Amino acid sequence: MSTPSIQQSSTSSLSSHLWEGSELYRNAVMDLENAATVMDLDRNVMTRLKVPRRAVIVSVPVRMDDGSVRVFEGYRVLHNITLGPGKGGIRYHHHVNLSETAGLAMLMTFKCSLMELPLGGAKGGIRVDHTQLSRAETQALTRRYTMELMTVFGPESDVPAPDIGTDGQTMAWIMDTYSQGKGHAVHGVVTGKPVEIGGSLGRAESTGRGVVYTIEHSVKYLESKGKPHPKMDGSTTVAIHGFGKVGAVAAEELHMRGVKVVAVSDVSGGIYNPKGLDIPKIKDWIYNNRVVKGFPGAEWISNEQLLELDVDILIPAAVDDVITEKNVDRVKARMIAEGANGPTSSVAQQKLEARGVFIIPDILCNAGGVIVSYFEWVQGIQSFFWTEAEVNARLAHVMARAFKKVIGVKERYNCGMKSAALISAIENLSKAMLLRGLYP
Ligand code: GLU
Repeated sequence: MSTPSIQQSSTSSLSSHLWEGSELYRNAVMDLENAATVMDLDRNVMTRLKVPRRAVIVSVPVRMDDGSVRVFEGYRVLHNITLGPGKGGIRYHHHVNLSETAGLAMLMTFKCSLMELPLGGAKGGIRVDHTQLSRAETQALTRRYTMELMTVFGPESDVPAPDIGTDGQTMAWIMDTYSQGKGHAVHGVVTGKPVEIGGSLGRAESTGRGVVYTIEHSVKYLESKGKPHPKMDGSTTVAIHGFGKVGAVAAEELHMRGVKVVAVSDVSGGIYNPKGLDIPKIKDWIYNNRVVKGFPGAEWISNEQLLELDVDILIPAAVDDVITEKNVDRVKARMIAEGANGPTSSVAQQKLEARGVFIIPDILCNAGGVIVSYFEWVQGIQSFFWTEAEVNARLAHVMARAFKKVIGVKERYNCGMKSAALISAIENLSKAMLLRGLYP
């Protein structure tokens, strides 16, 4: 059932140059190549997976509050749609570019395939410092971006969701703009919507919750193998890089289980208390002060220092490429749970795994979000909504199944967790790609 392999089945250097501008994309391809070597992946499948299927670049003009017009760069990349509609978030950040968006879209393809969701991989974004925009400007930006992508988005073609810098309100504007264009409410066009307009219960917490589920599975796995492992109690210390949609929920879940979260951070820097931080109090503090800086009863540290703390578990839950060749030798955590997409560079990850650090790779660790996005999409299409307990039970089931599969592959190939997760994802996807074949 394999397509004939031909010697020259490589991507032309011209098309690679187009995509390869970011560390994130280059790392994603490097990780893919490593996994492909271990599993002896069909060359033609590999060639196709290294580049996205389609990318759209749009100019997004916005009338600012002062009457002037500014034009922002917007992107939407579909990496692969073999298994179903493109799925992936929309990022508002001043680093967004075509290459980073393409790399993130590739990660979505593998994440959805690993979780056995009938979805492909996509990602979008606008290059903007959204913290400098007013609510009206953000709304105008979002609606115009959606208008420009009216023919790209759709419940059966490409379904966005929140990511860095976007939230339920952003999704509500996208849903409304798209629905106005169609003349009726289209629930399935985005996920991560507020519950009042067809969102799913449990979606907002799903990524952080999933991160903690994978930590629990890892602890049990290491215990079953007789290897040193942290415990889910007060003897374990955790540092969390990024106290946002993912990090704050993970912190709360760990705190509820009695695990000691000793450091958290955001754009303002980090706070550290070796005795453990009071997470609910930090949430209240942020509600009033916006950032963690100034929280009483904790030492101020930088984001860089947080990553190098001597803790049992480190959760990078902010941006990509924070553990690299530059700082990897100073990273002391024994377990790394990748709440963010692409936080560890390919080289750093190999060094860490060689040192015996247990890495829970992004496409496994942070998949809770897209899993519940899938549930939301299904509920929207059926106009039949589930209870939060049903959502959480199904989330736990899908994550447990994926974790088990990754461990199976890790033991079969005697490889690291990153390669094992990618191999599991690609095994599923490549079968589908080969069955569907290449048209024409
Ligand atoms: N942005 C999230 C991620 O990177 C969620 C994507 C989605 O729900 O479609 O996985």
